[in-house]
Amino acid sequence: MAGSVEPTPPAPEPPPSGPRIGVLAIQGDFASHARALHRLGAVAVEVRRPEQLADLAGLVIPGGESTTITMGLEAYGLEQPVRDFVAAGRPVLGTCAGLIVLDRAHLGLMDVLARRNAFGRQVRSFEADVAVRGLGDEPLRAVFIRAPWIEDAGDGVEVLAEIDGHPIVARERNMLVAAFHPELTDDLRLHALFLAMTRDRREVEA
Ligand code: GLN
Repeated sequence: MAGSVEPTPPAPEPPPSGPRIGVLAIQGDFASHARALHRLGAVAVEVRRPEQLADLAGLVIPGGESTTITMGLEAYGLEQPVRDFVAAGRPVLGTCAGLIVLDRAHLGLMDVLARRNAFGRQVRSFEADVAVRGLGDEPLRAVFIRAPWIEDAGDGVEVLAEIDGHPIVARERNMLVAAFHPELTDDLRLHALFLAMTRDRREVEA
């Protein structure tokens, strides 16, 4: 039509150039984790097969249902590859069910014992402001959904946050875990800490 002006198409987003981070995509909240990682400039890759772990700088095990995720890891032949991934020093972030999956009673990778639905089945979901060591002075708004806490932790585990004396954020070597869902808020400091762990490792390797 004469005189009409084509609307300017929005500028395409530049492709993220950050590290390639896998998000275990068997079940649970993997899509929100992928979005959070993307917002921080990482390339998020959904992982369902062992060979997809090959070129990743880190792996996220999301919240969801720990029994389903554990069974899926076995069904997809991912248990040993994920163990090898962690043994090779590559960073892993486990949130909520992901924390449970990493514990002594499941993959046996982290020297912690998680207590499932620790806040009681009735208290299915709540939010709290949590002070997390290493994330600055501002508390982190944390969304808990039928969350676990860490019932027991070995000497090598550094507890970064607690609620009523129960550890809910912890780190051991290249593993970082949180009992809540950091992917459901706009405060991405925990993901940023995890990405810093992958960066530190890549610098050591370079
Ligand atoms: N209660 C769930 C489990 O035991 C974990 C909940 C979650 O990941 N939000 O697997």
